[in-house]
Amino acid sequence: MTQVEPERGIGPPDALAVPFTPGAPSNDPQLDAFPETVAGPVPIELTDRRTAEFVEEWRNASYNCYSSGHKFCREVCPVMQVTRNESWTPTAFHANVVAMERGELEIADVAADYVNCTQCGACELRCPNTLFTGDFYRFRTRTVDVVKAVRALAVESGVHQERWRTWNARTDERTHEPCSARPR
Ligand code: SF4
Repeated sequence: MTQVEPERGIGPPDALAVPFTPGAPSNDPQLDAFPETVAGPVPIELTDRRTAEFVEEWRNASYNCYSSGHKFCREVCPVMQVTRNESWTPTAFHANVVAMERGELEIADVAADYVNCTQCGACELRCPNTLFTGDFYRFRTRTVDVVKAVRALAVESGVHQERWRTWNARTDERTHEPCSARPR
């Protein structure tokens, strides 16, 4: 069988013929006017200082999850196993942070999603981002830390969960387990 070489110069130019590598010296100088924001999101200035600091710290962790989108973590999450509520999954926790960074949601909109997490860490171990990179790069998905950070941000921002407040009040009142019988 004779191998036929494809004809060149016919049809539209092949975009892959000259691959573009951001920052390469061989690039057309005009491209310098379009630095890394060519493919990146346009930064949004968040007015709330606490939220701005929060997303600055956690945006990369959340994009690592949000951009992979496999959702294997859902099946090992005890909260998901019981409730089947998509808003309480590790994936949703990270997606919320992405939405906050884009100015679509505020802490008051998402805080209640984080009340059920047990911080067991099963989702982190099941995540391929941990499994494929943990040994070599010493990297792991940090869902538990994101949950803790959101809870802290909520309290600092004055966003409280009524049932948590009740629990704390009864703990103070009864100086014991809030669900036990009332002291006489
Ligand atoms: S740490 Fe939270 S989100 Fe992750 S598996 Fe445990 S309960 Fe689910």
